[in-house]
Amino acid sequence: MQAVLMIYADNAATTPLDTEALSAMREFLAEYYANPSQPYSYSRKAKHALNESRARIAQCINARPDEIFFTSGGSESDNQAVKCSGRRAIITSAIEHKAVLESCYAMRNYYGHEIHELPVDEACRVIIPALAEALTHCHSPALVSVMLANNETGVIQPIHELAQIAHSHGALFHTDAVQALGHVPVDVQALGVDMLSGSAHKFNGPRGVGFLYVRRGVEIRPLIHGGSQECGLRAGTENTAGVVGMSIALTNNCREISRHEERLLILERILIDGLKGCGIDFRLNGDAAERLPGLLSLSFRGANGERILHRLDLKDICISTGSACDGMKNQISRVITRMNVPHEYAGGTIRISFGKCNTPDDAAKIAREIANVIPTQ
Ligand SMILES: *Cc1c(COP(=O)(O)O)cnc(C)c1O
Repeated sequence: MQAVLMIYADNAATTPLDTEALSAMREFLAEYYANPSQPYSYSRKAKHALNESRARIAQCINARPDEIFFTSGGSESDNQAVKCSGRRAIITSAIEHKAVLESCYAMRNYYGHEIHELPVDEACRVIIPALAEALTHCHSPALVSVMLANNETGVIQPIHELAQIAHSHGALFHTDAVQALGHVPVDVQALGVDMLSGSAHKFNGPRGVGFLYVRRGVEIRPLIHGGSQECGLRAGTENTAGVVGMSIALTNNCREISRHEERLLILERILIDGLKGCGIDFRLNGDAAERLPGLLSLSFRGANGERILHRLDLKDICISTGSACDGMKNQISRVITRMNVPHEYAGGTIRISFGKCNTPDDAAKIAREIANVIPTQ
């Protein structure tokens, strides 16, 4: 019953599973558990489900089914995109998820790849002219990897413009869309990207499954070698239940995007107004308009983000200080540092990310509990 009383406002770290996805997954775990690659008819249902899922996901992002490759999640998709494009120069941004940044560093340290990092402005947007500048300095054909929406601030990046610049210099373009998918419309044609990473558990699908979109004609190598699953691009017996759950969750989320956004904006407003009403000195980090709905990076003057998190935890409220992967280190996050958030605020940063299950009462209660922790000025 604990789960009922708890307020879960850390949906950028992971999301609860869509109920329709769960019941479809049960069927493939318990009944149709056959290895989809076997020739007997019992495998047919699993193979068919994989194909259907591929088509569903492709439809959600305006791609073709043969451009979707299933992986074990966002980290694997990012690793493959960064490590397997064959490009020896990689341009990325200062605010990427570690799955992209650490992959870049690994390629530099192991193979001597050339890595450039694009800076961001105070609104957490990648500085567009910096890309053309970086591209002219590359010594070999480049891969550009910039995320669609940042996981700490929710700020949406100018991907279409960046991809155009990259292509005009002959570079390939990858975007980590893990945080954006299922929350804002994502169209690979309109964005003009060559590769895109997705992860099911960030859009109410199961953990441990994701996909990489690779535009037809773009050559990329496998990261995981072995069997010839996924057209030889990703070895390993397919996670049929996970893939089915992912495709249903994405379809359901995409159908509800605008209704869901409306709800989340109401929750944001209640939280912000609640904090203002208590006379608290805080700032909302990142561009106010180009942002994922429901994801808020807030910095409280003179406060300690870690302390706020623990105090709210005592009240059964789950929030975060930044990204889940960088958490618990009691230091100011890289993203907040690169955005130049003023020092007196930076240490008091928390991330609140609302999701499908949150109510207006949750938002009001979070504001009240924060007000109990923060000294008012
Ligand atoms: C969560 C996240 C990832 C990692 O995805 P996993 O499926 O957890 O490996 C990568 N990039 C971003 C932006 C994320 O938010």
